[in-house]
Amino acid sequence: MTPPSSIADRLDRARARIATAEAAVGRPAGSVTLTVVTKTQPPEAVAAAIAAGADVVGENRVQEAQARWSEHPRPRELRLIGPLQSNKAGAACDLFDVVETLDRDSLLEALAAEAQKRGRCPRLLVQVNTGEEPQKAGVAPREADALIARARGADLPVEGLMCIPPANATPDDHFALLARIAAENGLGVLSMGMSEDFETAIRFGATHVRLGSALFGPRARPAG
Ligand SMILES: *Cc1c(COP(=O)(O)O)cnc(C)c1O
Repeated sequence: MTPPSSIADRLDRARARIATAEAAVGRPAGSVTLTVVTKTQPPEAVAAAIAAGADVVGENRVQEAQARWSEHPRPRELRLIGPLQSNKAGAACDLFDVVETLDRDSLLEALAAEAQKRGRCPRLLVQVNTGEEPQKAGVAPREADALIARARGADLPVEGLMCIPPANATPDDHFALLARIAAENGLGVLSMGMSEDFETAIRFGATHVRLGSALFGPRARPAG
């Protein structure tokens, strides 16, 4: 088992690498938010990360997040980074500060209905399938403008975009594409970059990087 101190050390190292990457492209210190991806991690690892100051947390499943964050004190910000089924839109509204995975009309409608009932809605990112991979969630790049417009038309608080570039490809073009779609739509938040490529993502304008294995080590079971 990983001793808690080494999670704190890895968190420090990741923060230092983020600061270096910000400085390298002349971006202000602190302009990139580190989202600590706690999915599949055991409670003691999550507790160690929280004790070391992790305050923005990403989970990829609604039920796992519900179970975990009813036991722990909530982090300052909880973000859903995995696919959301429309029938869990209400639960997601109740639990998350940000949902990064709006990618289709049916989910848009479900979120709008649940938000209306509650009088509040998580901030939203539209997930774009930059590699147009059939097995991957996300709206196709050429359909992103229309989905963003429909979400705005439904008064949903869309603040940015998210992508997961294809594995085994150079991410540069994917990050550039996401940044371009965001700029064209006047969106300021870019959630892109994971353990293997977050410094590249920062070069292309990421405002949020999502780190799991760089902090916790390799995941014991697949993320799904
Ligand atoms: C698991 C996951 C991450 C973290 O990936 P690492 O490579 O472990 O840093 C980031 N984003 C999403 C959407 C994920 O599902």
